[in-house]
Amino acid sequence: MKKRFISLGGVIFEGCSVSSISIYEDASVLKLSEGNILSSRLVIDAMGNFSPVVKQIRRGRKPDGVCLVVGSCARGFKDNSTSDIIYSSSSVKKVGDSEAQYFWEAFPAGSGPLDRTTYMFTYVSPQPGSPKLEELLEDFWDLMPEYQGVSLDNLEILRVIYGIFPTYRDSPLPAAFDRILQFGDASGIQSPVSFGGFGSLTRHLGRLSAGVYEAINGDFLDASSLSLLNPYMPNLSASWLFQRAMSAKKNSNVPPEFINELLHVNFQSMQKLGDPVLRPFLQDVIQFGALSKTLGLVMLTKPQIIPSIFKQVGIPVLLDWSSHFFMLGYYTFLSTYADPVIRSLLTAFPSKMKYEWKRYLEAWKYGSGLDYKL
Ligand SMILES: Cc1cc2nc3c(=O)[nH]c(=O)nc-3n(C[C@H](O)[C@H](O)[C@H](O)COP(=O)(O)OP(=O)(O)OC[C@H]3O[C@@H](n4cnc5c(N)ncnc54)[C@H](O)[C@@H]3O)c2cc1C
Repeated sequence: MKKRFISLGGVIFEGCSVSSISIYEDASVLKLSEGNILSSRLVIDAMGNFSPVVKQIRRGRKPDGVCLVVGSCARGFKDNSTSDIIYSSSSVKKVGDSEAQYFWEAFPAGSGPLDRTTYMFTYVSPQPGSPKLEELLEDFWDLMPEYQGVSLDNLEILRVIYGIFPTYRDSPLPAAFDRILQFGDASGIQSPVSFGGFGSLTRHLGRLSAGVYEAINGDFLDASSLSLLNPYMPNLSASWLFQRAMSAKKNSNVPPEFINELLHVNFQSMQKLGDPVLRPFLQDVIQFGALSKTLGLVMLTKPQIIPSIFKQVGIPVLLDWSSHFFMLGYYTFLSTYADPVIRSLLTAFPSKMKYEWKRYLEAWKYGSGLDYKL
């Protein structure tokens, strides 16, 4: 990929960091801390979750939720042919001054037949006293052998992994400045439930590269035109509820087993409903039909869990979620019925209008998960 980029005229400044970006009417100018100055018509901010530009746009506001991950890649797993996407074996437990519900993920690593990656992760509402990565890592070494049926003495640790994934409810992030567009983790387009930012990046790559190309060609580089490339997506906003439901709360009035029960009944329902429901969910794509069927089946199979859901997530979050659920249905309708009509008229539109309408059609499609093909 790097070779292809360079062969097409791309230049890479490896090991350089951007210290400032100034926006002018006809260009943006980047200053690198090493002293170089670069000018560009459009800056793609792919500086990840901790992008300084995003920090400025969000004014240092603390995230609405955080997923903390610790793990390892180790050699010596004799049974190394299966994977877990999400696994839970314990209920909510005390970690430091806080409470946490641990989830696990494990899969064979590409480096060798006995090498395996194992993650332990948890969702927290960031506040003083929240679990620390160090505390999680201590628990990881204690609990991982039981989860994987191995002894630490028989493993060669190849890598220790840890990460913090902040999530904001108002995501994806609209462009706040002319000539700068957030991309990847910086844009907040990844699911707040999985830490699958790379998957989401590849899912949106085609849409975004075509959109950026059109924006540059048509000179639609003002903040509001660029914002159409990071539009409101009801399926992303709706999935925020799942993170809240899976976060343990201090002094919570739901039983410690609630999160496991909720996951169990949800996954059981999705499995009954089959691949068209289960697979998009596991790949971070929330669709109106699949979500409605799952919720319906959960209510029929385990109605007694509903009061605990209300207690766990709270009425304001549920009301907010209901509006996104409604919009998910609306976007599904628009993408199914209005899209073909508008698409047939696109060629007759003036170029700016055409650019805008193409972005609306994409927002309907991706925002309702109809881009997903089984
Ligand atoms: C432990 C772990 C496991 C993961 N597992 C998965 C997975 O299974 N599936 C999946 O889809 N995703 C996974 N992810 C997430 C995935 O790695 C990210 O979503 C993806 O890398 C995001 O890419 P990005 O380019 O947006 O940001 P990043 O990969 O974070 O890249 C941002 C880059 O910007 C650079 N940068 C920051 N500030 C500056 C500056 N001032 N000047 C210049 N450069 C700067 C950084 O050095 C970095 O290279 C995982 C992440 C972690 C930490």
